[in-house]
Amino acid sequence: MMRLVFLCDFDGTVSPTDIGKCFIERFTPAPGTHLPELERRWRSGEFGHRELTKAECESVRCGAAEAGAFADGFRLDPHFAPFARTALERGDEVCVLSEGFDFYIRALLEREGLLSVPYFSNHLRFEGDRVVPEFPYHARSCGRCGNCKGAHVRDWRSRGYRTVLVGDGLSDRCAAREADVVLARDSLLEWCRSEGRAAREFGTFADVAAIALELERGAAEAGRIENGAVPRAIERP
Ligand SMILES: [Mg+2]
Ligand SMILES: [Zn+2]
Repeated sequence: MMRLVFLCDFDGTVSPTDIGKCFIERFTPAPGTHLPELERRWRSGEFGHRELTKAECESVRCGAAEAGAFADGFRLDPHFAPFARTALERGDEVCVLSEGFDFYIRALLEREGLLSVPYFSNHLRFEGDRVVPEFPYHARSCGRCGNCKGAHVRDWRSRGYRTVLVGDGLSDRCAAREADVVLARDSLLEWCRSEGRAAREFGTFADVAAIALELERGAAEAGRIENGAVPRAIERP
C-alpha cells in the first residue's frame, strides 16, 4: 500500500505566525520602507526568495542567544503535535519544508517533543550580532527559491510516497505544482484556484488530521483493489 507523506510549510502553517518575517522585522533597526519594499519586489517576481532572504539579513542585528529567546515567544498550531503523532503511528511520514530558518523551527519542534519530524529549511549562521543565511538545498532549486519545495516533493515521490502538501503562501507554489494532493489556505488557496489547480481548504491541523484519515482510507481501498480483492460499494452518507 502506498504510504503518505505530509509535507508541511512552517511559517503561517505549522506555526500560525510567520516567525521568519517577525524575526526580520524585530531585529532590523530603523527599517523605514526598506523591508516592505524588498517584500513588494519579491511578490512582484522581481527576484526570488533567496535574494530576498540575503537582502533582509544584511540589515539584521541579533545574536544567537537573543534569537533563541525570541523563538521561545511563539507557539505552534496546538493541533499539529497530535496530528503528527497519529500520522507517524499509522506509518505515514510528516516533514517540515521551509524557506525560513532552522533555529526557530528546531526550537519549537523540540519543545513539542517532535524532533522525530524531519525539517528542511535554510540555515542562519550567527556571527556576533550579524546573521548570514545559508541555503543547503539551493543546488536543486528552481533558481528562485532558496529551498525549493518542488525538489523535496520529487524526492519523496521517487521514494514511492504519495505526497500531500500543506501550505499557505507564495513559497509553497513549486511544491503545489508537483504534489499529489494540496491542502491550502490564504494566498496559496487563492493561487491554486486562479491556476485551476485542485486544492482542499484547511483552517488548522485539526482539519488536516480529518483529511489525512480520508486519504488513508482511500489508500487502503486502493490497496485492496490493487491486491485483486473486490472493493465494497462506496457508501455515501
Ligand atoms: Mg507559509
Ligand atoms: Zn522553487
